[in-house]
Amino acid sequence: MSDPAAPPATLRLTVDTDALAANWRALDALSGGADAGAAIKADAYGLGIDICVPALREAGCRTFFVAHWSEVAGVIKHVPGEQVAVLNGVLTEADCGYARATGAVPVINSLDQAQLWTTTGGGRCHLMVDTGINRLGIGQAEAGDPAIAALDIDILMSHLASADERTAMNRMQAELLSEAAETILHKRLSLANSAGIGLGEAFAFDLTRPGLALYGGIPREELAEHIRPVAKVEAQILQTRNLAPGEGVGYNATFIANTHMRVGTVSIGYADGFLRARGPGNALGHEGRALPILGKVSMDMVVIDLAAAPDLAAGAWVEVPWNIADAAQQSALSAYELLTVIGPRLRRS
Ligand SMILES: *Cc1c(COP(=O)(O)O)cnc(C)c1O
Repeated sequence: MSDPAAPPATLRLTVDTDALAANWRALDALSGGADAGAAIKADAYGLGIDICVPALREAGCRTFFVAHWSEVAGVIKHVPGEQVAVLNGVLTEADCGYARATGAVPVINSLDQAQLWTTTGGGRCHLMVDTGINRLGIGQAEAGDPAIAALDIDILMSHLASADERTAMNRMQAELLSEAAETILHKRLSLANSAGIGLGEAFAFDLTRPGLALYGGIPREELAEHIRPVAKVEAQILQTRNLAPGEGVGYNATFIANTHMRVGTVSIGYADGFLRARGPGNALGHEGRALPILGKVSMDMVVIDLAAAPDLAAGAWVEVPWNIADAAQQSALSAYELLTVIGPRLRRS
């Protein structure tokens, strides 16, 4: 029996690939003489590798950053392995073998990783030096180690801890990377993430690594005028109903009607990434009209007040704000979390 075609989904994520490409070109231009790469880890921040990577490639991007080796297979369907950098580096011989088989390039993070890469055959790699974030990377004092001298390093990189803030640490990290670059042979230098690009060309070196801003996030005001929204989320009303005064809505009846109300049950919930933190106090929308959320967000549903939209009935599409700057403020979620929690039902739509 052949699988019947599934009917259309009741929720949808639309990725504006023109806006994504325009954001990459804007960030590339803001990087001055440096090239922009792209951080595409976590399924392109939840928006989908298969949609985002071809658009970025067509825009001109030639360096793609993922975190895990498990992310490589999906990316090399679209770009050559040698353009893919794996931030976690190599922990095992299996990692090294997979790197050589796919052409994807490890970002070496420690002397142990350097030795492992060399003893399993060496070859082109990147190197992370820690300049203060204390997550991954070799220490400043390890720059002169013979294990590092044995590497064939393309990109020598570091990562800014607080690029979204005005702090002396940014300048200090740039100086420490420049210092390491005097000891460590390399071809290209890289420091700035999205917010780092907003700090100015002094932070761009040879290659920048924007992620969030590609997808419409604005981590620094300097970027606001250059970045377009990319993700649009909509969901359908499944049912409408009338509440009498005293009736509650949703689990634990945390909303109680004090008047007659017409409400709609919308097909999106926390399983889709519309987290419970975005419940009361937030609203969905329809052509500029705000439709306040009533009660708790459920796994698959959320209930909205239809007072402002008496014309809407079952089947109508409503807008689910994924405007990350605003929603992040509304919900105490970071813009990064808001994107990367996009659930599988929404990604597939
Ligand atoms: C995720 C990541 C980036 C991209 O950061 P954004 O803040 O999303 O622009 C750049 N570099 C490294 C090492 C990363 O882990």
